[in-house]
Amino acid sequence: MKTSILLKENLMKRRYKNIRYILIRSKRKTFCIQIERDGQVTFRAPLRTSIKQVEGIIEKKRSWITRHLLEWREVNARRKNQVYLNGEPFPYLGKSYPLKIVKNQSAPLLLKAGSFCLRSDQRDTPKASDAFKLFYQEKGIKRIGERVTFFKKKAGVEVKRIRMVETKTRWASCSSLGNLNFHWKCLMLPGKVLDYIVVHELAHLKEMNHSSRFWKVVEKALPDYKERRDWLRAHEMGFDL
Ligand SMILES: [Zn+2]
Repeated sequence: MKTSILLKENLMKRRYKNIRYILIRSKRKTFCIQIERDGQVTFRAPLRTSIKQVEGIIEKKRSWITRHLLEWREVNARRKNQVYLNGEPFPYLGKSYPLKIVKNQSAPLLLKAGSFCLRSDQRDTPKASDAFKLFYQEKGIKRIGERVTFFKKKAGVEVKRIRMVETKTRWASCSSLGNLNFHWKCLMLPGKVLDYIVVHELAHLKEMNHSSRFWKVVEKALPDYKERRDWLRAHEMGFDL
């Protein structure tokens, strides 16, 4: 009797203490709590999990959830009010560099002597954000090109074309023809994590799935890929793809 009720309630909006969450029960064996890109807390559980069990797990994970929600709110607030003022930090390859508004400079934006130098006629929001996008795209083509050349032999694949793109929800993608696409925001990530994304896509040229064979290809090219993948999973929410 109880089981049939549970089966009907596969997706539920619930609240436990100060945490609102969506409970999704499905045919799975493990529990998983995620904070989605929109700040929604999602709890995935096996079909026969009781609310008591769910709440027990949330209670244990409460400080983790609260900490990540706070982080999410902070990132979100910063993102909405992105300003291009002197001293404002911007990321590049895992490091943060302060912005400097400069007068005479040929390029709209340069990374020079530890600062992002933005030409003063570019400081308004649409122009400045375009200048940053262009900066990351240009750096990306060069850097990712080099990393692909370095890793493609290890993965045993050939690559046709690399492009920098802007997609929603994905860092990168590939086609069976050997074309690779990377989000320009990849250049904000630490180099080690960017390498993982490169190797991940290269491995897909061999295995178009996430099977154990696929992960073997990744591991052969990048033995410590798990650490890098975990970093990406833990931090990618803040990059708002
Ligand atoms: Zn993949």
